Amino acid sequence: MFKKILIANRGEIALRVLRACRELNIKTVAIHSEADENAMHVRIADESICVGPSQAQLSYLNIPAIITAATITDVDAIHPGYGFLSENQRFAEIVEEHGYIFIGPKSKHIEMMGNKIHAKQIMEQNNVPVVPGIYEMKNDKKIKSFIDKYKLPIIIKSASGGGGKGMRIVHDLKELDNAIKSAKIEAKKSFNDSSVYIEKYINNPKHIEIQLLADNHGNVISLGERDCSIQRNHQKLIEECPSIVLNAKERTKIGELCKQTIKSINYQGVGTIEFLFHNNNFYFMEMNTRLQVEHPVTEMVTGIDLVKEQILAASDEKLQINQDQIKMNGHAIECRINAEHPKTFIPSPGTITQYHQPGGLGVRVDSALYQGYSIPPHYDSMIAKLITFGESRHESLQKMKRALEEYVIMGIDTNLQLHQSIIESDIFLSGNYNINFMSEFK
Ligand code: ADP
Repeated sequence: MFKKILIANRGEIALRVLRACRELNIKTVAIHSEADENAMHVRIADESICVGPSQAQLSYLNIPAIITAATITDVDAIHPGYGFLSENQRFAEIVEEHGYIFIGPKSKHIEMMGNKIHAKQIMEQNNVPVVPGIYEMKNDKKIKSFIDKYKLPIIIKSASGGGGKGMRIVHDLKELDNAIKSAKIEAKKSFNDSSVYIEKYINNPKHIEIQLLADNHGNVISLGERDCSIQRNHQKLIEECPSIVLNAKERTKIGELCKQTIKSINYQGVGTIEFLFHNNNFYFMEMNTRLQVEHPVTEMVTGIDLVKEQILAASDEKLQINQDQIKMNGHAIECRINAEHPKTFIPSPGTITQYHQPGGLGVRVDSALYQGYSIPPHYDSMIAKLITFGESRHESLQKMKRALEEYVIMGIDTNLQLHQSIIESDIFLSGNYNINFMSEFK
């Protein structure tokens, strides 16, 4: 078992990993940028080390500085959290080359799934249904016949995509060339890879994803689904587990298919397979080879600590739970609280002048905020995750409503009120919402 882990991240996820380590009696090393000297993850860790200036490129993405920090502090393993270097194949490889354990899959699996075109091909080989698409962008004839067959609209997506970047929906053939060009430019800028592909644009689907966990001994379990259809700019805002549209039989069927697939490639650690769900059909979109922001809703419903399991699996332990022992109980909802203007979504960094966090039975807050803390302008605007759990969806929603009312974050703009109005809307209450909810929400 590991003695000491370096956490190559910041904010709430650094705290989340720290807490799991502490419960496993593992010492922790926090890394931080100059802007994060007073951050909560630095205060709570056993040791901390500054890895560079404020800009993420020079600190949280600075591989040589992070490896040096690992050497100086003599850790056994590195946890990348999500974002930053968590899906960087080269980083995982360098960590491995330096004799540390990367708490995540092997670098070859990150590479395999990192390219969405390759990932779709692997899924197809394993009979997982995928969104119909075309990957050869140089052949105009093939593109034309794809559009003739599947009809407009289509969506252009970046092969190395993430965070909704490099996507263009095309409703009219006249827009096609320009959409490809601008998607390529955005993809190059965001991922240093201009390759894009085309998919049929599915109208009004749900976004449903399956949580998986695998050890290094060939054991794989599926931990049910999350409905992440409440999104803006293709980025998730609210997630829930379970989804009201799946029954137990459908859940088992898609879970088994996902398990077989990741078993066939010898995948290790936690992973999420993302689907669009439309007319009772699943369409694979991509696989995330890391811990997801929204993992807490699965933890609340299954009672399984995904971060501890992830660390145990990385240290070669066998899974202690089998599929039959997984019981989905009750309902959990997560609201992502962002420091941003509620209407324009422009980030709102600044000092928290007053802070009160809700609590009580079934209320969980994953956040690194505290009164007097200054949110730096350099990083993601998500500052807290508010998670509620109840025996039923109704109870979970009642708790969310109460917790949102109780949450006080003064000194900056947040989307707390936006969440209140979403969860009280008729469509959200019905559970029958799809990925276009926010574009129609007034
Ligand atoms: P990223 O990795 O950039 O987040 P994804 O492939 O996960 O990209 O897609 C993000 C979101 O974009 C999805 O949850 C969905 O809302 C929308 N989307 C992606 N592909 C399609 C599609 N073929 N049809 C309709 N919506 C799509």
